[in-house]
Amino acid sequence: MWVARWAKTLAERHAQALHRSPRVLTLLPGARVRQGGRELINFCSNDYLGLSLHPAVRAAFVAAADRYGVGAGASHLVTGHGPEHEALEQALAAFTGRDRALVFSTGWMANEGVIRALAGRHDLICQDRLNHASLLDGALATGAELWRYPHGDVAALAARLAEQGKTKPTLIVTDAVFSMDGDIADLPALVATARANEALLMIDDAHGFGILGPEGQGTAAAFGLSQDDVPVLIGTFGKALGTFGAFVAGSELLIDYLVQCARPYIYTTALPPAVAAATRASLEVLTREPERRAALQARIRQWREGAAQLGLTVLPSVTPIQPVILGSAERALRWSRALEAAGLLVAAIRPPTVPAATARLRITLTAEHSAADVERLLTALAALQREDPAVVGHAGA
Ligand SMILES: *Cc1c(COP(=O)(O)O)cnc(C)c1O
Repeated sequence: MWVARWAKTLAERHAQALHRSPRVLTLLPGARVRQGGRELINFCSNDYLGLSLHPAVRAAFVAAADRYGVGAGASHLVTGHGPEHEALEQALAAFTGRDRALVFSTGWMANEGVIRALAGRHDLICQDRLNHASLLDGALATGAELWRYPHGDVAALAARLAEQGKTKPTLIVTDAVFSMDGDIADLPALVATARANEALLMIDDAHGFGILGPEGQGTAAAFGLSQDDVPVLIGTFGKALGTFGAFVAGSELLIDYLVQCARPYIYTTALPPAVAAATRASLEVLTREPERRAALQARIRQWREGAAQLGLTVLPSVTPIQPVILGSAERALRWSRALEAAGLLVAAIRPPTVPAATARLRITLTAEHSAADVERLLTALAALQREDPAVVGHAGA
C-alpha cells in the first residue's frame, strides 16, 4: 500500500513534467559550476555576493575548526553554546540595530520555531500567499486560524483586520523579498497595519539580508524601520552571507522568551562553531567591501535594461532574483535545457513551488558575474524568444 502510493505520486510528477532530482555540481569561483566535464555559468546561486568562496570567510572557518573542532557537541542550552556563537549573536544584534539576536541552525527551523513559539490555536496568523514554505508549515503547526492574503495586498489585510476589530491576537508574517518573484514587501504599509490593529509583525529577510539597506542590514533597514516597527526579524546565512544557518533578532524580552519556548532552538545541536566564525567574517566583509554590493547592483541594472529591450515577461524586481515567466512547466523546462546546452545554468521553477501557469526561469545574479556573463544570458534568451514565442502572456500571480 505504501509503496504503491509513492509510485503513484512519482508517476504523476513525471507525467506533469514536475519530477525533480538533485544533480552533482562543483562550485567554482566567478559564478561557475562544473557538471561532469563541463563548466557552466551559474545563474541559480543564492550566494549573491560570492562570499562562500571569500578568502577571509574561508580562513575564519578553517581557523575556528582547528581551534574548536568540527561539531558543537550539544545544543545551546546544554554545552553547545561557545564563544563563536556568542560573538556572532552580538555582531548580528549590533548590525541589525536590535537588542539581541538568537542563532538557529537553518532558516527553516528559525521560521517554524519562532512562529510555533509565538502563536497558538486561539490566535490568527495572516501570511502573504507567496511566503516561504517554512512560514506556512510553521503556521499550520500552531493550530491557529490561518489566512493567506493575496500577494502584496496590504489593503485587503487591513480591511479584514479592521473588520475583526482586535478580537484575536494576530501575527502578520511576510517574506521581505519574495523568493520566487524577487519583489519587496511593502513593509511600511505592513508596519502601519500591524500598529493599527495591535498585531505583531514578523518578517523573513532571507533574500534581503546582506543585500538591501545602507550596509546590507536588510529590507527593514532599507525602509528605515526600527525594532519597534518590525519586532520580529528573521535573517539567514545561506544566501548573501555565503555560509549556513539563521537568526532571529528583536527585543531582549522576545529573545529570552524564544530561548525558553522555541523548540527547534532548544532541541537541536548548535551550529558548528566554525560556521558561526565564518558567518561573522562574512558580516565584516559586507561592511568592508561595499564594492561587492555595487557590482551586484550594476549587473541587476544591466539585466533589467537588456530584458526590457527583449520584451521578456519579467517581474518588477530590483533584487538579485529575476524571474522570467514562461507559463507552462514544459516551456520552462525547454528553455532551461536550451540555456544549459549553451553553457548557462538557469533553474526552471515549476508548480508546486510557484502557482500553476507561472512556471518560470528563476535567474539569480551575483557580484561574481561579469558584464559579459549577463550579455551571454541575454543573447541566449533573445534566440529562445524568437524560436519559442509565448502562447500565454501570464505575468505572474
Ligand atoms: C532559503 C529560505 C529560507 C530557509 O533558509 P535555510 O537557512 O536555507 O533553511 C527561509 N525563507 C526564505 C524566504 C528562503 O528563501
